[in-house]
Amino acid sequence: MKAFHHPDEAQHAPQFFLMRGTVRANFEVPARAASLRAGLDALGLKPEETKPAPREALLKIHTPEYLDFLEHAHAEWAAMPEAGAEIVPNIHPTPEMLAQSSRPAGHVISRAGAHTADAACPIGAGTWQASIGAAGCALAAADVAAKGGMAYALCRPPGHHAYAGRAGGHCYINNSALAAQRLRDAGAQRVAVLDIDSHHGNGTQGIFWDRPDVLTVSIHGDPSRYYPWYVGFAEEKGAANLNLPQPFGTSDEGWLAALDTAIAAIRQFKPDALVVPLGFDASEFEPLAALKVTEEGFKRAGHAIGRLKLPTAICQEGGYNVDLLGTLLQRFLTGFGEAR
Ligand code: ZN
Repeated sequence: MKAFHHPDEAQHAPQFFLMRGTVRANFEVPARAASLRAGLDALGLKPEETKPAPREALLKIHTPEYLDFLEHAHAEWAAMPEAGAEIVPNIHPTPEMLAQSSRPAGHVISRAGAHTADAACPIGAGTWQASIGAAGCALAAADVAAKGGMAYALCRPPGHHAYAGRAGGHCYINNSALAAQRLRDAGAQRVAVLDIDSHHGNGTQGIFWDRPDVLTVSIHGDPSRYYPWYVGFAEEKGAANLNLPQPFGTSDEGWLAALDTAIAAIRQFKPDALVVPLGFDASEFEPLAALKVTEEGFKRAGHAIGRLKLPTAICQEGGYNVDLLGTLLQRFLTGFGEAR
């Protein structure tokens, strides 16, 4: 098992978070990465530093307009009088506007509304640099998997809520999608993405919606009560996807049964490689908990996924109980390793 991390991750330290109408401290913080690194240390895994993802790799998943926005918008934002420290838009184009052929004007506020889904993806001065560092880790993990191996990418910020042209839910560049595409480009005919973060992997599903070559499977808290609210339901059917929403409070037994269903679908798909968007927010001790998965549950999940014996790139997604993240990573990777 190899592991990858980029130190520029720490340059993204978002402040803004809106919850039920109140501004709170953002919890997608650099301390998460420190905790995850401690988990790797406990396993004797020393993460390698990667190169930031090059633009040509990012363009395989994201639009050029969106990448230009992410890279340059903060300077324009900061130059506005009385601007806050981070880009957080106060308007998004509505379906009615879009139906009238609306398009973003050149102003940074207009583009911010068009390129973000919600108020949970503030863009600060270091967000771009951190995001391309995380994306580089995902590509490096995919390169290991492309050679038949397995690797873990400590991606921060996470990525699975990001669409081709839109940030959302703490995510800017879709690291797991980049890894899946890199595996396709390296010769894998079919790639499966198995997302066990407690939130639906909506960005990844959206990116591969029309693609029969990439199966996206997501196990997550019921979106009728939980982010991302509008998608993640069982009836959504793209070219190759499977959503397994779980009732609030689902614990190990139900969650691992859903994982068995996911794994059966993946076996049937016969992929050449696997990408695992790995979130730990299904933990019973998660601050905004929807599910109740234990440490042992994560170890058993790692074991079940490892038993697929596929070349595998694991990309870190969410999980916000900073004190517990390292332990959960340790447990998951231990289970995964024992199955190989
Ligand atoms: Zn999540």
